[in-house]
Amino acid sequence: MSHPSRKYNPNDPQRERVYIAERCVDFPRAPEFQSLSEIRAFAQQVLRSPTWEALSRHTLQDGRGVVVKLGRGRRAVAHNRLVGDPAIILPRASWRRWTIFHELAHCARGKLTANHGPQFTASYFRLIHDCWNPDLAHRLQSEFERMRVRVAPWAPIGHEVPKPDPTSVGVSRDEGADLPTEIAQRARDVTYQKAMVAFWRKVRAGAFKTK
Ligand SMILES: [Zn+2]
Repeated sequence: MSHPSRKYNPNDPQRERVYIAERCVDFPRAPEFQSLSEIRAFAQQVLRSPTWEALSRHTLQDGRGVVVKLGRGRRAVAHNRLVGDPAIILPRASWRRWTIFHELAHCARGKLTANHGPQFTASYFRLIHDCWNPDLAHRLQSEFERMRVRVAPWAPIGHEVPKPDPTSVGVSRDEGADLPTEIAQRARDVTYQKAMVAFWRKVRAGAFKTK
């Protein structure tokens, strides 16, 4: 999460559309926690889930913890630091579950990227779906579709989560910058679209339900 009015960033092309999608979902706007310790307890539960284990397996090598800190202003941010666990910095106004899932989804990307690419949106969807509220997750998914926000295909929990493969999963500038444009474009247009259609069909059919 960062300030919605910031300008379009070519290195993070989905950012504004992710923010718009979030605003269109009925996420609670008011703070939902009373203290940082409540948030830390909540984050701990998420970090112990099989979903977090699957999301962070390839990305967080030096421990799977996340540090929760108080921030200033209105903006929540995530830092994937060079040493130690990633951190999320939360001003009081952002003490809401959906914001925490958003920042945790950044953390789950490890040092790979700090932006809002297809791997991020897939992690964000999974966390909300598995650890909070599947209905809200599906609302978010619909808004992503409406805003043409790309979401990487995902493996069911309990299976190995594939490493991002820019030739077969969508390519964004952040995650496939070194690919020839032609290949990137083809991957985007054909493979990605097919994979997404198959993926969401399975999600809708309830294939990935964990309970
Ligand atoms: Zn963000």
